[in-house]
This record gives sequence, C-alpha cells and structure tokens, in this order.
Amino acid sequence: MTNEELWQTVLAQVQLNISQANFATWFKETGITSQKEGEVVISVPNTFAKEWFEQKYNKSIFKILHDLNTEIKNVRYDVGKTELKMTRKSFPSLPDIGQLEFQEFKTDKETNLNPKYTFDNFIVGPFNELPHAAASAVAQKPGQIYNPLFIYGGVGLGKTHLLQAIGNEVLKTSPKKKIQYIPSEKFTAGVVVSIKNHEMEEFRAKHRATDVLIIDDIQFLAGKEKTQEEFFHTFNALYEKGKQVILSSDRPPKSIPALTERLRSRFEGGMIADISYPDFESRVAILKAKCQERKIEFSEDVLSYIASNIQKNIRELEGALNRMTAYKKMNSQPITLDSVKSLLKNLISTPNKMVSPKKIIQMVAEFYDLKEREILSESRKKEIVRPRQIAMFLLRNELKNSFPFIGRKFGGKDHTTAIYAFEKIKKETEDNEKLLDEINSIKQHIYGEFS
Ligand code: ADP
Ligand code: MG
Repeated sequence: MTNEELWQTVLAQVQLNISQANFATWFKETGITSQKEGEVVISVPNTFAKEWFEQKYNKSIFKILHDLNTEIKNVRYDVGKTELKMTRKSFPSLPDIGQLEFQEFKTDKETNLNPKYTFDNFIVGPFNELPHAAASAVAQKPGQIYNPLFIYGGVGLGKTHLLQAIGNEVLKTSPKKKIQYIPSEKFTAGVVVSIKNHEMEEFRAKHRATDVLIIDDIQFLAGKEKTQEEFFHTFNALYEKGKQVILSSDRPPKSIPALTERLRSRFEGGMIADISYPDFESRVAILKAKCQERKIEFSEDVLSYIASNIQKNIRELEGALNRMTAYKKMNSQPITLDSVKSLLKNLISTPNKMVSPKKIIQMVAEFYDLKEREILSESRKKEIVRPRQIAMFLLRNELKNSFPFIGRKFGGKDHTTAIYAFEKIKKETEDNEKLLDEINSIKQHIYGEFS
C-alpha cells in the first residue's frame, strides 16, 4: 500500500471518531512520509501539532495502523511539511509524500458545503423515504414548498448528508443562489464573537442575504437564549422574503429542552420529517453502493455479516467497510468470514460494551439538560423526578437491571420505587407519543454514539 493509501485509510477511521472541526484542524496538512522496518513516519505541519499528535492522537493512530498490519510497531511524528513541499517542487521526481486530498478538506469556503454529499450517492429506503422526498422537493423549489424543512434522527443516520445534498443540488441548478451551511455551534460562536466585536450588523446582513440557509444540529441551541433570539430574527427575515430555511436536529422540536416557544412553533410551522434506523435490505444496499464508489468487491456473506451486526449507524457501516477495504489492500489472501469477524470485533461489540447504567444515566441527564448528580439526588422537583423515572425505566428495559439494584443506584431508594417508576413510564409510553419520541431519542444517543 502506498503512503498515501495507507494514510487515507487511517484518516477514514480517525474521521469517524472526532468532530469534523477537529479533524479539519489537525489532519489537514499531514501525511505519511515513510513506512519501513515497522516504523511509520507521519509528517505534521509544526511543533505544536507534533505535540498534540503525540499526546492526543498517537494511541488511536497507532492502533489503527497496527490493526491493519501487525508488523507496524512504532509511529513517529516529524515536523516538516513545508520543507517537504519545497523539496518536492525543486525535485519533482521525489516520491509522493502521502499528503492527501481528503474529501473532508474540500469544503467550500463560501458556502461551507462539501461536494461529497449529493442526492446521487444517497441511498433511499423505507427508513428515510419521507425526509428524502421532502429534501428533493425543497431542492427543486427552494422557499416555495416546505419552509422550514426540519429533519431529525439519530447519530450517523444521514442528516448532514441530506442537508448538504440540498445545498449542493440548488447550487448545481442555480449557481447564482447564495447558500450557507452552518453547524449550529458555528452559528452560536458567530453570535458571541459578533457581539464582542460589535459586528452584529455585519453578522445579520450576511445571514439575511442568503437564499438557502442550512443549520445543522440545532439541538445545540438549547439553552442559548441570545443565539436563539438572533436566529429567530434571521429566520423571520428570510421567511418573509420567501427564502428557504433547512434545519436538522437529533430530536423533534418539541423535545428540545429550553427552546423558546416562538422558535419551537416556527419550526413546527413547516415540514418535519424523521430518519429512522435503516432496515437490513437498506443496510446491504448502502454497503453495496459504497463498495461501488470505492471500486472494491466483497462477497455477499461478508456484506450481510456487516449489515446484520451494525444496525443503528450508517457512519459505522462505512467505518467497517473502510477497515475491510484497507485489510484487503494489505493482504493478498482472500477475505473469509472469520477474518471479517476478527477485524470488526471491536467495532461490532462497541455499542453493547459501552452501554452501562452510568451511560444511560448520563444520556438521560444530558437529554433533559440536568446534571447527573441531580438525577441521582433525592430532589422531589418535578423537572427532576420525571427524568429520573425515565432513567430507571431505561435501566430496567435496556439492561434488565434488577429493581433493588436500580433503587440503590438512585440514592438508596427502595425497590418498590423502582418498580413504580418502571410501570408508570411503561404504561405512559403506550399512549404518550411525545414521551415515546423522547425515549427513542435518548436510546439513539445511548446506542448510536462513539465513546
Ligand atoms: P448525521 O448527520 O445524521 O449524524 P451523516 O449525514 O454524517 O449523519 O451520515 C454519516 C455517514 O453515513 C456519512 O458518511 C454519510 O454520507 C453516510 N450516509 C448516511 N445516510 C446515507 C444514505 N442514505 N446513503 C448513503 N450514505 C449515507
Ligand atoms: Mg451530522
């Protein structure tokens, strides 16, 4: 495998586990310069990055490399990208340093859109048919059909892909249209900085001049009142001019805590569509499409093994495929089901291994914007009692924890308290759709997340 191919493979794995922003920041100017005698040398742009890699990323990078090829025993980081670049210019015949054209880095500066997300490479199945149909309708006639379009669903199920596909599609048919894709954290940061630098006017003007404004992961606006206020005004300004607003979240608007009522009702005024978990056929179809993209083939056995074992996250499906692809490139023997099993062992066992009572409590607390210790406390406040009951319900339902255990876990309560909580929530889920939605979202957080 060439330096470049090897690094691409590593990056494909790394990318799954860190945020897009971190990825772009740290991995942009990196590459593999050599691989020999069990040592891989990675070039990084400066000493600061070198330290950062050694402290933060070395462990995972080493593990990925070692998993791919057990002969790799050591990884070293070298500062020297610029030097290498100069050398390369002066000696064009030097071997390629493995610096990459990674898709993640191709994000357009103006629109923030990444051209890799299109409708063409988005697989449609029963699990995402509705959001897909709504998204393509909006892409055909932005501002005229569903406004806003609100897409929600769990981690790694294609929200960002779909949102960006709309942007890319509009740009393709009407290149003059102004489109902006903004992760909601970035919007928040923009508000904060603009207030600090007294540049609110510019900030507003910029967003209000768009034809299609896309804000991803708006659950992060929860509790940020100033940002919500700003967004509300931007939203209204665009809406009145017939401009399109597209939003995504990991949960429906009604389940986002601390969302101002007027914002919530704005969101609910358009089209809301959710992406659920892909069924088996869709998972296989996705794998096949990605294989075709990567020009690589695997047997039906292998693909169905992956599809039966990774069920709740398309990003993980891709991760498994990346791992297999790398393995195939590095090993000459044909891939057997056994080699697949051992290769994907940690990927596949991750979700279950990770789910512990602590994790469930953490996720419930996070979901309701509470502190873990509040949920575990003896407080009788309504805002706390209910999430606590939901946590108890989940411990029983998901982990089959015993009632006495659950009682003890929550501040030494009696097992009858745990039984009461479980029965109460269970009964309510039968006819309370909002609660059911909330519990499903929490479950997606519990299972769908990387550690
Ligand atoms: P989310 O934003 O919901 O967390 P992403 O949009 O980032 O999820 O999707 C995770 C990965 O899975 C991306 O690489 C994306 O391209 C891929 N993906 C998701 N849904 C589909 C789909 N229906 N067809 C093809 N690829 C998909
Ligand atoms: Mg996303």
